[in-house]
Amino acid sequence: MTRLAHRTDATLAGPALCGTRPTDAALRVLRVLESAGLEAWIVGGWVRDALMCAPGHDIDICCSGSWEQSAAALRAEGIAVVESGVKFGGITAVLDGERIEVTAYRLDGFYTDGRHPESVRRAQCVEEDLARRDFTVNAMAWHPERGLLDCYDGRGDLERRQIRAVGEPRRRFEEDALRMLRAVRFACRLDFSMDDGTARALAGCAPLLDQVARERVGIELEGILVTGRGGDALLRYPELMCEAIPELAAQRGFDQRTPYHAFDVYEHTARVLTVAGELSRFRIDGGDPDAPPSPSLMWAALLHDIAKPQTFTLDDHGHGHFYGHPEAGAVLARVIMRRLSCGNDLIRDVCLLIRHHDQPLRPERVDILRMMQRFAVCGVDVPRLMGELFDLKRADTLGKAPSCFYYVDEIERMREMCRELIANREAYSIRTLDLSGGDLIARGMLPGPRVGDALKRALEASIVGEVPNEREALIAYIGL
Ligand code: ATP
Ligand code: MG
Repeated sequence: MTRLAHRTDATLAGPALCGTRPTDAALRVLRVLESAGLEAWIVGGWVRDALMCAPGHDIDICCSGSWEQSAAALRAEGIAVVESGVKFGGITAVLDGERIEVTAYRLDGFYTDGRHPESVRRAQCVEEDLARRDFTVNAMAWHPERGLLDCYDGRGDLERRQIRAVGEPRRRFEEDALRMLRAVRFACRLDFSMDDGTARALAGCAPLLDQVARERVGIELEGILVTGRGGDALLRYPELMCEAIPELAAQRGFDQRTPYHAFDVYEHTARVLTVAGELSRFRIDGGDPDAPPSPSLMWAALLHDIAKPQTFTLDDHGHGHFYGHPEAGAVLARVIMRRLSCGNDLIRDVCLLIRHHDQPLRPERVDILRMMQRFAVCGVDVPRLMGELFDLKRADTLGKAPSCFYYVDEIERMREMCRELIANREAYSIRTLDLSGGDLIARGMLPGPRVGDALKRALEASIVGEVPNEREALIAYIGL
């Protein structure tokens, strides 16, 4: 095995990391390992993010010793060790409440296609360990004295803002097809492009994604969606995205034959995803702009029109219609998300958003309360999901033809109205009613089904505005 030259640059130790320093705990772990005669480097995401002046990433250390040697050295200095991944040569040091992963140099160990090895082969040196890593920007190591070790010009790629495979891209994707989705996830997260060779290999190797466990595909897809740049992923890497969700392929080039749409279904979907991501980034609803986009909103944006191709009909004037596509879309979205092992609550929220995304809704008190009521009976967080419904409607509208854009004002009036209804403590469910079964029983009603019926009547009267949501008024309405 040829040893790659150490290309270290001590001047990079300080300023080039934008003044970012590892935590004291990580530095202590590094020092303890090296005092025991081992070599240790900080690697991966922390180095990448520090070079981009985006500190805060978890710190991973890789080390020349076996996991047993690292664990012994740390424990001898009173540092707690969790044997978290010893099959793959990894332990976790726990210090000052921080968890620092320490992994032995190794030659392989990223298997995502179900061919998990029982153990991994140790590497001789850090360069060999870096060579197995996926992308140049993830394949750098840093040490407080030795500086940056960057065998593949990861720093140059950070400057060029591109994702490039370490080594021959096709071979790297053949080794582990999940890397293709990782490439897209990092490109979206960092807002980078893809180097030409890597992009070509990605399109050519897309069918290999078939070998990857669907659960892993689901996790990476969500990772892409919550960057808020899923629209870019659809437009730039269509082969891969359609491999991840084969149902998307029918949307590509699907002419909607309607004056309301300027784009085919696939491009419309990409635009909706982009606007939904931007809404999350700019938080026009007053929410936290630093919070990542909501997974349910992003999945709903991705899948809201998934059933359009199958529900398409043409009328006598040659206009296209998609009757029932929200309901059929919710059914199909459930099938897709189950296949990808998404969580049940997420699937429930996404299906609700899809089912109601196209439902006519007016800025009328009763309309909004009825919509909230529909969500409430499904046991969801109503204020959050209403906000996401308005986001989805807004994004959907802005992905259509400009003649539809006027509807955005109406959506915002509805958003405002919904906010007021919640602030004014209007009732939209038995739980939000200012009256409980206990109140009725205390007023002499016998326990039993009549109590539930009375609460339902009170809720209905409150929703239609016959009686305010105030305990005494509701009791009087019921006639107690
Ligand atoms: P983040 O956790 O913020 O998404 P990260 O860079 O820490 O980014 P991880 O998935 O946690 O990414 O992996 C840590 C490091 O391990 C990566 O930086 C990369 O060097 C390497 N790595 C992870 N998965 C693979 C893979 N499938 N193939 C090759 N290298 C990988
Ligand atoms: Mg990580």
